[in-house]
Amino acid sequence: MKKNNWLICPVCGGKTRNQIREDTVLINYPLFCPKCKQVTLIDVKKCTINLIKEPDAKTQSQ
Ligand SMILES: [Zn+2]
Repeated sequence: MKKNNWLICPVCGGKTRNQIREDTVLINYPLFCPKCKQVTLIDVKKCTINLIKEPDAKTQSQ
C-alpha cells in the first residue's frame, strides 16, 4: 500500500499543498510554502526532505 504524504516546509515546519509518495524522488524542487509565502529548493528521496542551500549570491569578490 502506498500512502501519500504531505510535504512539510523545512523552514517553518508547516504543511504545504504538495504531496509525495513513498517512492517519489524530487531533485532541486522549488517547494512553495503557503505559510512562509516563499519558495525553498529541496531534494526528496524516500520521504526525506533535504533543504538545498542555494549558492550565496552575495559572495562576489570585487
Ligand atoms: Zn514555511
